Amino acid sequence: MYKKVAWEKYDENQLKTVMEFSEGYKEYITKGKTERACVKESVALAEANGYVNLDTKIKNKETLKVGDKVYATNMDKNVVTFVIGKQSIEKGLRILGAHIDSPRLDLKQNPLYESEGFALVDTHYYGGVKKYQWVTLPLSLHGVVFKKDGTRVDIVIGEDDSDPVVGISDLLIHLSADQMQKPGAKIIEGEDLDVTMGSIPLKGEEKNAVKANILKMLKEKYDFEEEDFVSAEIEVVPSGKARDYGLDRSMVMGYGHDDRVCAYASLLACLNSGANEYTSCAILVDKEEVGSIGATGAQSMWFENVVAEMLSLMGNDSHLTIRRALANSKMLSSDVSAGFDPLYAGVNERKNSAFLGQGICFNKYTGSRGKGGCNDANPEYIAELRKIMDEANINYQTAELGKVDQGGGGTIAYILGNYGMNVIDAGVAVLNMHAPWEVISKVDLYEAYLAYKVFLEKA
Ligand code: MN
Ligand code: MN
Repeated sequence: MYKKVAWEKYDENQLKTVMEFSEGYKEYITKGKTERACVKESVALAEANGYVNLDTKIKNKETLKVGDKVYATNMDKNVVTFVIGKQSIEKGLRILGAHIDSPRLDLKQNPLYESEGFALVDTHYYGGVKKYQWVTLPLSLHGVVFKKDGTRVDIVIGEDDSDPVVGISDLLIHLSADQMQKPGAKIIEGEDLDVTMGSIPLKGEEKNAVKANILKMLKEKYDFEEEDFVSAEIEVVPSGKARDYGLDRSMVMGYGHDDRVCAYASLLACLNSGANEYTSCAILVDKEEVGSIGATGAQSMWFENVVAEMLSLMGNDSHLTIRRALANSKMLSSDVSAGFDPLYAGVNERKNSAFLGQGICFNKYTGSRGKGGCNDANPEYIAELRKIMDEANINYQTAELGKVDQGGGGTIAYILGNYGMNVIDAGVAVLNMHAPWEVISKVDLYEAYLAYKVFLEKA
């Protein structure tokens, strides 16, 4: 199959548009380092584009009309946007679904301790990480603390230039004779991913004086106590901004491209849509990296409930209508693909690999070991998408996640597929996936945005 480099399609003026689009994205992931932060940024973008909170419509018992733009959130960790289409919702939605959780280190509930003059916090890693990648990096703390009286304290430490950063130490090479003999999975062990918080003892304190000093600072600056860590959600992530990568600025290096790159492109595609034939939808979910489970994962009833609420406002919320609305829907599971890395060519089968710069990537299936756990998209559906993409001059490629039996992975595709709708994975190729700093191509981001938009318009 002939694959085209998307850069070649654009003239100088259009290239400016491609580059400018990535500026908004860089800002989105620089601010959106947690799922909660992504929801906040997404809601701000939606409201700036005239979207109204669905709860307001429900409270005022307002009906929904063609062209209405609404959004809903779930526990500050999911957000969904809709543009009401010309056809009734019963005829189906056109859904873009991405996830906004990314691999990271979470503070344990009882995290803080002192050892040999250092105050440290214990973490439990979230999602699939190569643990050795997370040491000797500037890290930042992002999250929320809820006190017993319900007060919420927001925390971002380590992003402002005037902020301190935190980090995890690693053994000096001079004394690593034993460590260097260990297999990669054991070089740094999960229980050793402890983050250094400080080293000055509190004057007059005899025991654990360094820890006491850190607690005193947290009390003074954020007004919470050690016990309040129990009801906190604090994520340790790489400190710093998303930046242009490569001398030609063709790529972006940033934390959390998986899957905020598809989340941003999906959200913008929906926000920039007018009333299409069918109701347009972009849904951003949590917990994909740990199995999409629970109230904020893709397996939650939340999305179905939101659709039911919308149908109720339109006077037709029978169970059958909701079932039909979901079964008649079509979806792009907007998630990232493994970008072909010339340094590690051996893990891919070249003609079924995703290349940076060749546009949005469709994965008919994901899964591992004989397609285990995959959503296998129907060729009828793929044929329809090919036609739409070709007519809109979208650069697209197809791939699977590495060689057969090399590994694999999953997405949220099969979960929405459970409703009986057509779903295929479609997203941006990423280098260094799940590393603290991942890399994407700006032109793939833009092609994904265009592909998502034309999907909402034409599918
Ligand atoms: Mn993903
Ligand atoms: Mn992932």
